[in-house]
Amino acid sequence: MDADVIIIGSGGGGGVVAKELGEKGLKVLALDAGPWYGNTNWPEPNTERGAVSSSSYEDLSIELLRKDFTLLEDDMNDYVTGKFRWGPADREKPPWFRKIIQGGYIWQNAGIGGSTLHYYANCPRAYPQSVNNIWPISYDELVPYYEKVEAALPVGIGAMTAKEELFLYCFKNAGYKPITTQNISEPGYRLQPNAILSPNPRINDPEFDFVNNQSVGCTLKGHCVNGCATGPSVDSVAKRSTLVSYVPRALRSGNVEIRPNTFVTRILTEQGPEGLQAMGVKFRDTWTGETGELTAKVVIMSAGGIETPRLWLNSELPENPWVGRGLINHWFDSVSGIFEEETLMNILGVSDIKPFVGQNAAARFDYPGYGVIEVYGTSPGLYASMVYGSSNQGFQGQNLRSEEVPWDYEGNIIGEQLKTFMREYNRTISMLIFTDDEVRQSNSVTLDPFLKDENGYIPVVNYSPSATDAMKRNTLAKIAADILRKAGARTVIRSNWSPGVFLHIISTMRIGYVTDTNCEAKQVNRLYIADNSVLFNGLGGPNPTLTNQAMATRTAEKIAEKYFS
Ligand SMILES: Cc1cc2nc3c(=O)[nH]c(=O)nc-3n(C[C@H](O)[C@H](O)[C@H](O)COP(=O)(O)OP(=O)(O)OC[C@H]3O[C@@H](n4cnc5c(N)ncnc54)[C@H](O)[C@@H]3O)c2cc1C
Repeated sequence: MDADVIIIGSGGGGGVVAKELGEKGLKVLALDAGPWYGNTNWPEPNTERGAVSSSSYEDLSIELLRKDFTLLEDDMNDYVTGKFRWGPADREKPPWFRKIIQGGYIWQNAGIGGSTLHYYANCPRAYPQSVNNIWPISYDELVPYYEKVEAALPVGIGAMTAKEELFLYCFKNAGYKPITTQNISEPGYRLQPNAILSPNPRINDPEFDFVNNQSVGCTLKGHCVNGCATGPSVDSVAKRSTLVSYVPRALRSGNVEIRPNTFVTRILTEQGPEGLQAMGVKFRDTWTGETGELTAKVVIMSAGGIETPRLWLNSELPENPWVGRGLINHWFDSVSGIFEEETLMNILGVSDIKPFVGQNAAARFDYPGYGVIEVYGTSPGLYASMVYGSSNQGFQGQNLRSEEVPWDYEGNIIGEQLKTFMREYNRTISMLIFTDDEVRQSNSVTLDPFLKDENGYIPVVNYSPSATDAMKRNTLAKIAADILRKAGARTVIRSNWSPGVFLHIISTMRIGYVTDTNCEAKQVNRLYIADNSVLFNGLGGPNPTLTNQAMATRTAEKIAEKYFS
């Protein structure tokens, strides 16, 4: 045996389960398809193959991480060539292709830390009403695991900058109530529970050295989505991706070895005393193309909402009508308001809100039954693409606006109009909408019957929202537009995003359908799932990673009890 447990993927869920099992004394081998940033074994992670694996905390280097994570939007987040793309470490090679039936793009990345490298670090819990009497486990059962993850990351209160202040003002001004609990049952607004360390108390010191910062805490410089390297050491970096929160602790346990650049192409199985069971994996080195096999007593799939079902199907594991089915996407939308200087002066006492300053999203409005609205702001290139270039409605100029809708523009904005709006970027506030969309079996990740890449048949992603989903999303878009208007926004723009834009990819290997209540595959013993795919539904709209991590913590406990106690 190469390990007690092999984990496929080291992202939101995989990083957590590695640390939990390593701390329980199990020998863990985590394999990830992407590169490892901030590790001395890979000084040039995108141009040289480097070592095979790392198992020592001493290998982590904040100096390298600072070099790797730049503030350049293209360098980090270009979907095709960026360091945070779905593709191999070698950026000379093309990304791995996925077919999206509706068009659009899937924003996921490969690498140690997975998609949490670029996530915004918002960590709300699920709405209890979306779990109780719906999931095969209760909300109360999740709470201790939520608490454990919240303490480990840790999760704190989002930091207030001008955009959060304006967002909270908009909701308060429209008569909504503040929320003071983690367990949400009524609509209301609040500062975001974020896995970002509180602002560094020294940031107002004119002598503070932002580049070689030797103290702990967020500097509010923005660019969280480009990957955070703010802090004196890797494990004290301000934004708590699993790369800097769980992975260092996994290494400190002395029991975890992590291997980047290793794409798992097949789950290996054998007949055991109780039927089919997992016994290892087949992998492909993304630099050399060499293949190999590794064995373990338990295998955990944490490859994310698309690759976990893809791997099941490419491994020809038993048929199950829910493998790759029930895809949730929180069908996003974005509504923005442009304010006059004078209005902002009256509300905030400053003339602009500078969307790039501060955490990417640090305040939210929760509406159980409908979903979520949260404020967001990124640097200008990404902002222009998200707010003005992701519409499902074609170009704004081709859309006839009905008098009944509370927005002035809808659709992609181009040319002179785009330039005008982007000149007003510093006075624009944007709100992301996450729809509480229904689980439907027809929304799926399947395999293309013909097209293969070097890792097997490619995934085909098919997501169409239902009429109920559309109603919920429209309701939230109208609320966002109304509150902006009431607060005095001069221009309101609804982007109306394509259903093919994916940020939250959930529920394609549902607990209770594909797995038992302990997240062990019903049809393959010793095979577990610990990523977004195992969640039962979209949680009512809240961002999924905290729940994924709470579940991964629980799953680690169940594995240790069943196979290693
Ligand atoms: C811009 C953006 C902002 C976001 N902000 C938030 C937020 O604020 N809060 C929130 O809750 N969520 C947020 N998300 C979503 C969040 O990133 C995901 O929910 C989370 O990372 C999913 O965790 P996961 O374990 O399912 O998959 P991932 O984190 O994507 O990890 C999967 C890992 O598996 C590896 N892998 C895949 N296939 C294989 C294979 N066959 N072999 C080996 N390795 C493999 C990948 O390289 C990757 O590292 C955001 C997403 C985006 C794009």
